[in-house]
Amino acid sequence: MKILVINCGSSSLKYKLIEMNDDKVLCQGLVERIGIENSLLVHKNLFQEKYSIKENFSNHKDAIDKVLKILLDEKLGVISNINEIYAVGHRVVHGGEKYSNSVLIDDEVIRYLEECIKLAPIHNPPNIIGIKACRELMQDTPMIAVFDTAFHQSMPDIAYIYPIEYSLYEEHGIRKYGFHGTSHKYVSQKLGEVLDRDIEDMKIISCHLGNGASICAIKEGKSIDTSMGFTPLAGIAMGTRSGNIDPSIYTFLIEECGYTVEETNESLNKKSGVLGISGISSDFRDLEKAALEGNKRAKLALDIFYYRIRGQIAAYAAHMGGVDAIIFTAGIGENSSITRKACLKGMEFLGVKIDEELNNIRGEIVEISGDTSKVKVFVIPTNEELMIAKETIEVLNCS
Ligand code: ADP
Repeated sequence: MKILVINCGSSSLKYKLIEMNDDKVLCQGLVERIGIENSLLVHKNLFQEKYSIKENFSNHKDAIDKVLKILLDEKLGVISNINEIYAVGHRVVHGGEKYSNSVLIDDEVIRYLEECIKLAPIHNPPNIIGIKACRELMQDTPMIAVFDTAFHQSMPDIAYIYPIEYSLYEEHGIRKYGFHGTSHKYVSQKLGEVLDRDIEDMKIISCHLGNGASICAIKEGKSIDTSMGFTPLAGIAMGTRSGNIDPSIYTFLIEECGYTVEETNESLNKKSGVLGISGISSDFRDLEKAALEGNKRAKLALDIFYYRIRGQIAAYAAHMGGVDAIIFTAGIGENSSITRKACLKGMEFLGVKIDEELNNIRGEIVEISGDTSKVKVFVIPTNEELMIAKETIEVLNCS
């Protein structure tokens, strides 16, 4: 059974065709600069051989049409008939308060996703465009929406209500939604498989540390709190995003520093985080190197990143009355042993102890906690596309 996973950004499209019998990725690719000149499609086959195709795609429908042609192509293709694609799983960033699970897409679902545009003005529009394009091109194939927010809909009100006028929640939906839900769900379930334990009996803290970063407290298999908020700008410091700051800084920038609203958003989303502090880069490889060479601001940026993660882990351990396992995932979480070690420094009081040798292993699922650690610490590579494909099948089996 083959599932096509589609992830549309404002000018990009990522796709993966997965054979679900053995979770094998049959092919995958990325189209960039859609709607801009010099679009580029890079397709990788089963053996990771790359093919670059330069063609101008004026919109997502053109790009998806080309992807489908490639899937059917004699040389590059992996299917001989479009009906071999059992269903399409679409990554959708915001499912509002309505969707706590993935859902079979119909007109009603699309209408609700359009309502959610005000909550995710950058992400939901391209997601919807991708869904509409696929529906037009593959009229007989079921489409499923898998939301970044859905996993966090289990949060209790004490976690998601902000201490502001309650009417702002009731009338405008201003509350914590949380993001990266597909990843937090995937790695926590994977942990259960690896330990051969029911995660319903566990308290887990999942650290998704990529360009965007969030931490999630998972109790009895459900998200009970997460660090991102109303938008993905909240929480710990990130590559270029500020994370939590005093909200008055926003108005101060406008009233005292002469920033426009647009410049303020740009500053907090694109020029802050470790990039803003270091003035060097948002990439942790550059920062780790610079810090080792004695660059003080690079070191400060990293130390602030670790400090905030430590604080968040400790807070979630307190909220859950302890922690059984901590998971690191995504670009930084999977690859940076320096980050993992630094974030857990001083956590012995919680029963966390990592083994330095195990912490240096990369590219696979590995338990990095030592034998004497009460808390298990794992590195688990995330696989959001596989999770989307699995959810897609689950929805169809249940409907
Ligand atoms: P996103 O999906 O949010 O764009 P990723 O999960 O791909 O981000 O993570 C990207 C980040 O991972 C890069 O910015 C880089 O800082 C970090 N990263 C990747 N490889 C390494 C490495 N070997 N050491 C440290 N950081 C790394």
